[in-house]
This record gives sequence, structure tokens and C-alpha cells, in this order.
Amino acid sequence: MRVLVLGATGQVGYHLRLLLPSAIFWDRARIDLAHADPLEQAVLALRPSAILNAAAYTAVDRAETEAALAWRVNAEAPAALARAARQLDVPLVHLSTDYVFDGAAASAYRETDAVAPINVYGRTKLAGELAVASLCQRYWMLRTSWVFSEHGANFVKTMLRLARERDTLTVVDDQHGCPTYAGDLAAIMIALVNKPGIALPYGLYHVAGGVPTTWRRFAERIVVRAQAAGLLKQVPRVLPISTHDYPTPARRPMNSILAAAPALQQATGVNPDWQAGLDRMLSRLPVPQV
Ligand code: NDP
Repeated sequence: MRVLVLGATGQVGYHLRLLLPSAIFWDRARIDLAHADPLEQAVLALRPSAILNAAAYTAVDRAETEAALAWRVNAEAPAALARAARQLDVPLVHLSTDYVFDGAAASAYRETDAVAPINVYGRTKLAGELAVASLCQRYWMLRTSWVFSEHGANFVKTMLRLARERDTLTVVDDQHGCPTYAGDLAAIMIALVNKPGIALPYGLYHVAGGVPTTWRRFAERIVVRAQAAGLLKQVPRVLPISTHDYPTPARRPMNSILAAAPALQQATGVNPDWQAGLDRMLSRLPVPQV
């Protein structure tokens, strides 16, 4: 196997490197995904046996004012990867997002539900999905949500920092979703291309980390488990606020709970669980010296 990974420096890319060090990892210094033509030519020249795309423009708020760049990375680069995958006749594993939905549904989103993104990031990611689905046949597209990891910037890290500075945290409590540990995602991506005899049809699958929650309840769990892990001296109070009280440049879906695809879990043998993932993450963070 000659597996190519894009997005080597990201949260998921970090775990792909831990789990499959023999893969070929491309980062921004190796290739800038904002330029689709050289990307496609470089992949064709490499001739990988599978492509794992963990790269994306993920700055949700900044995308509102950098729409052209977000489009190139999230729509045009996946299109280039899909064309290369088709020409080489190799599988492409591509990641997408809960933000393709508007969040108005009353229950968890399934793969067949209508998409209607409400921000620039979501629109560019949806364009990437459509490009991949139309340009190659051998793709597994994994929509996921609320990704966290010990590597990179994310909600868990932000809560830990704030919890060391404050007695009280105020966190949005009316957005519902499902955290997903990047290590689980990486394990699924690798199983798709590496597990002998895997029998999962190509297509779109939702991957989410278990029990749905809100950002506030997620924050509560983070600080409690961090104290148990010796990372916090005290557990701050975590008070609820509404989305209205925490305005951001990009709108967020109120409900972005993804119904996880059982077929994917069965085929890969990976059952994402954000609570277990959180404990794994916390156990890998350095205990602060006081
Ligand atoms: P990160 O933001 O942690 O990593 C993104 C990666 O893409 C980085 O390696 C980054 O490189 C790379 N990248 C961005 N722009 C370019 C560019 N122009 N050229 C080359 N590389 C570039 O993302 P995650 O690991 O969190 O996300 C992985 C996937 O999951 C993405 O498809 C994302 O859309 C999706 N997703 C993420 C969610 C989340 O909460 N984070 C939620 C739902 C879906 P560099 O380090 O140099 O910037």
C-alpha cells in the first residue's frame, strides 16, 4: 500500500500519522491546496494506492471574509483529488461536515436528509462533496462533527485554558451536536483502505462520536474529567448561555447531530465514542507544573 495523506498537520492528520506512519504525508510546505492543477499533477505523478484527504480550510468564521480561498481548498482541491483518484482508479477517503445542514431538523441528520448550509464554510464543504461524488466512483465520504484532539486548536483545549484562568465559564447551551475524537476518525479512514476484505459500498457516511450533547454539557464533562486526570486544580462552574448571547461572524446550525452509520462501524470495527476519546486525549496532555 502506498497511502497518500493530505492535511498532515491537522487534528485528523496528526492521528493518521500516529496510526499509519508508513503513509506518505503531504503538508502545506509540500503542496498548497489552494492550487488545484499542481495538486492533481503531483498526485498523478506519485501514483498512490489510496488517498486520505484530511485537509480543509476549517476557519469557520474567517471563511465569511475569505470565501474565495475557502472555496479553492474545500471545493477545488477535493475535485482535483477526485479526478486523480478516478484516473489512477484508487479509493479516495474525503472528510466533510455537519455544517452542510441548516440545523432546523428536530432529530439527528441522516445521509439522505436535504442539505442547506447557512455559512460560507458549509457551502464550500458541500461543493467539495458534490465534486467528489460527481468526479470519481471509488470514494468514501465521511461527514463528521465537533472534532477534537490533543493536537491542534479545538474546543477542548480552549475550555482547559479558560478553566485555568476563571472560576466560571459561560458556554452556549442551545446548539446540539456530537463531538468526535480525531483518533477515531483516523482509525476509520485507515481501516477503509487498509483492512483486508472490507466490504463497505462506496458512498457517503455519517461519523459521529456517540451520545449527542451541547457545547455547555461538553464543557462540563471536559473540566470534570480534566480534574480527575490531574490537569485542573479546580472545576469551574459552567453556566449556560444562548447562541444569541455569543454572536459569531458565521452562523452555526442549532442542531448538527449526525446519526452515525452502523454499516461503517461494522465494516471498520471502529465505534467512535467521544467520552472515551476525551479521556484518551486528556491522558496524553502534559500535567501542568505548579
Ligand atoms: P484542521 O484545521 O486541524 O487541519 C486542516 C489541515 O488542512 C491542516 O493540515 C492544514 O494545514 C491543511 N490546509 C488548510 N489549508 C491548506 C492549504 N491551502 N494547503 C495545504 N494544506 C492546507 O482540520 P481537522 O483535522 O479538524 O479537520 C479534518 C476534516 O474534518 C476537514 O475536512 C474538516 O472540514 C472536517 N471537519 C472538521 C470539524 C472540526 O470540528 N474541526 C468538524 C466537521 C468536519 P496547516 O496546518 O498548514 O494550516
